Amino acid sequence: MTAGAPIPSKDYARQYGPWLPELLEEIGRVLLSEEPILGRSVARFEAEFAAYLGVPACVSVNSGTDALVLALRTLNLQPGDQVLTAANTFVATVTAILMAGGTPRLIDPDPDSMNLDPAAVAAALGPRTRAVIAVHLYGRAAPVTELKRLLAPRGIALLEDCAQAHGARDGAGPTAPRIGSVGDFGCFSFHPSKNLGAFGDGGAIALSSTAAQFELCGRRNLGKVDDYEVRFVSGNSKLDTLQALILSKKLPHLDALNARRRYLAERYREQLSDLEELRLPARVPGEGHVYHLFVVESPRRAALMAFLANRGIKSSIHYPIPPHLQPMDTDLGYPRGSLPIAERLAEQVLSLPISPELRDDEIDRVAAAVRAFHRGATQ
Ligand SMILES: *Cc1c(COP(=O)(O)O)cnc(C)c1O
Repeated sequence: MTAGAPIPSKDYARQYGPWLPELLEEIGRVLLSEEPILGRSVARFEAEFAAYLGVPACVSVNSGTDALVLALRTLNLQPGDQVLTAANTFVATVTAILMAGGTPRLIDPDPDSMNLDPAAVAAALGPRTRAVIAVHLYGRAAPVTELKRLLAPRGIALLEDCAQAHGARDGAGPTAPRIGSVGDFGCFSFHPSKNLGAFGDGGAIALSSTAAQFELCGRRNLGKVDDYEVRFVSGNSKLDTLQALILSKKLPHLDALNARRRYLAERYREQLSDLEELRLPARVPGEGHVYHLFVVESPRRAALMAFLANRGIKSSIHYPIPPHLQPMDTDLGYPRGSLPIAERLAEQVLSLPISPELRDDEIDRVAAAVRAFHRGATQ
């Protein structure tokens, strides 16, 4: 059975179509008047994004992964130094720790928020703990203000992996801090699929003080602190001028796009909350959730996913293999069964389409299909 056109999880043509003439004109202006690398648009976007977050400085880089790696490198991790993070995160959080020379210490998430629980972090701190990476997974703010209170007096760095939560706030009120502004480093990805996305890779590090700005500007640029002098052993991790331009054009719309995501999440909730077998993401007050993904849990995930696919609906899994079970070339030291909540989530989570460019009737079609599956429809 099908009912209408396929429903994608992402549609870049819909995203860019409406403002293409304006964007092409701006791109033309930049091509004729700026440097392709570290052009004026880069510094401009960094200043705009820092102002949006309420931090004193922001250093743009080429990806969210490198934002994490470069921020961690400023800590000068020694062999055996531990960096704590959530076991159910995207694998890049964990590989960043390894690339920066640290030892990942994985913590099972709170099963309701799917984020780190400060009590579990407190219980896992040890003499070799150098940093904690709080991941705002799926767009829901992790409790970073509380984590900062725990970690700052102990001299342990707090990094925020903000790749999925641009614009979310840690707290309910309209003046609650934006995520990325609370920890020592707020690490963002601008991968095209994220809530604030470039047309290509990109990332940024929000800084709560300007102390690390000089070092990070060197580390993103082959270790160079000026045209000729190299002070750090480092790769090449710069944000392109054209990507910065696109991000500058999109940033003023971020809050409205996040509000649309919250509206669509509520629309799902109204239509799905009576389905007992399906677990919906917990409702979060204010701007505490920006629904990068709308992640449900189903004990019959594979069947539900196939049922939706039969109706042209693209759902996806974030993530089917938790980092500690990836067949990586490094053994993280966590056998199967050692992180039971992350492992259960990996078996049950399913992301329903929630891009802001989807229409209300498309969300309703997804919800109707999910309902039909639970009523026992077979095809
Ligand atoms: C996307 C993502 C990253 C990596 O970002 P890239 O820009 O793709 O390198 C890191 N952490 C999380 C949680 C992500 O979702």
